[in-house]
Amino acid sequence: MTLCPVCNAQLEDLKECHRCKTYLGQIMDIKNQAMYHQQKAIAAFEQSHFHEMFFHARRSLTLFYSPESARLLASASILINKFDLGYMLWNRVKTSQLNNPEYK
Ligand SMILES: [Zn+2]
Repeated sequence: MTLCPVCNAQLEDLKECHRCKTYLGQIMDIKNQAMYHQQKAIAAFEQSHFHEMFFHARRSLTLFYSPESARLLASASILINKFDLGYMLWNRVKTSQLNNPEYK
């Protein structure tokens, strides 16, 4: 995180914004928990434990949305035959990428 999610100031300290004084420690903790569950989902995939992969991928996406976590949950959904959820997530990621100038 390089910008404050509240006021868009450049962050020098990751725990508190120097401009608006927003405490960002909890946000960083949540993001770290999301990354933890993302790694657990990948590890479960490598062991072919797809229901466990789905659990961790869903937890990761619930805590902090990112295109990577959405793709991970979409993959896990398909692997446990939740095709509707997988299809919906793939379309959401695809649509958000089409609307994001970084991907054009
Ligand atoms: Zn701020």
